[in-house]
Amino acid sequence: HQVAPADYIRAHIRTVPDWPAPGVMFRDITTLLANPRVFRVLIDQFVHRYFDARPAAIAGLDARGFIIGSVVAYELGIGFVPIRKKGKLPFATFEETYELEYGSATVEVHTDAVKPGERVVLIDDLIATGGTMLAGHKLLQRLGAEVVEVAAIVDLPELGGSARLKAAGVPVFSLVSFE
Ligand code: AMP
Repeated sequence: HQVAPADYIRAHIRTVPDWPAPGVMFRDITTLLANPRVFRVLIDQFVHRYFDARPAAIAGLDARGFIIGSVVAYELGIGFVPIRKKGKLPFATFEETYELEYGSATVEVHTDAVKPGERVVLIDDLIATGGTMLAGHKLLQRLGAEVVEVAAIVDLPELGGSARLKAAGVPVFSLVSFE
């Protein structure tokens, strides 16, 4: 195909209007994952981006960040660190709570998941308000990691998350954006 990778990836994301709440345009990546050619193009984008940087690990956010992040880590030949929703990790953890539109959420990481000074890339499927990525970034900082970049398939710039992350000094990368 002669289509640019980002356009090819974008064309395979399904938009579900008014889910999970009225007014939300849900960007569903299951249609992308189900297509082996697009899935490979997607993973290759991240692998090529981080091949030379040689991070020590990929960290992924629960749950769609696990699907992408673990495959990227495997392809780069490096470890994968899950940042999980509260109550799932068995060993000692650090936790970070952040505000959602309604209520709050807490994410956790094992205290020994990354060694101080190690370079890590944080991956999730999508950046909306940026709260999830920011919480993950804070956890990695508490481990003493050097976060190379936070990366997502999709950015929703109108929700301000990527701008908020950049304002906090966090390098941000995304493959596609939806206005
Ligand atoms: P936020 O913390 O506001 O940046 O939200 C990001 C998290 O919520 C990601 O883990 C996404 O999976 C999910 N999310 C938020 N908004 C959407 C959306 N419009 N479509 C798909 N996923 C979303």
